[in-house]
Amino acid sequence: MSNDTFQRNTKQRSLILKELCSVTTHPTAQELLDMVRSEMPKISLSTVYRNLEVMARQGLILKLDSNSGQSRFDGNTVPHCHLECTKCGSVYDAPAPAQELLDRHVEELDGFEIDSWRLEYTGTCHNCLRKH
Ligand SMILES: [Zn+2]
Ligand SMILES: [Zn+2]
Repeated sequence: MSNDTFQRNTKQRSLILKELCSVTTHPTAQELLDMVRSEMPKISLSTVYRNLEVMARQGLILKLDSNSGQSRFDGNTVPHCHLECTKCGSVYDAPAPAQELLDRHVEELDGFEIDSWRLEYTGTCHNCLRKH
């Protein structure tokens, strides 16, 4: 890989990471593409997706496999719960108390060392509730 290519890749990656960390909407690769395009008009969807995959593997970001089949990405790597709307596919961060309760409960479990956990609630979001 030439130095030029390396620098371009680094620049792409840091731009994608910056955009992802600036929102709490858990965007898809397509949505991220729209976000980075204003600064990098020539970037392609496959480039965005490849960079997201690499960063997820490195633990820099979270990849969420949603029920709609479209992967969403999260710049917040601190463990937290998600609310997924089954109507519009939006993913929200769950309010903190839900997680604090769980953390306390898990701490009380004996003889099990937890490496990671995942919790997702599904339902209808406030926007969709208002529409129907
Ligand atoms: Zn919704
Ligand atoms: Zn999140």
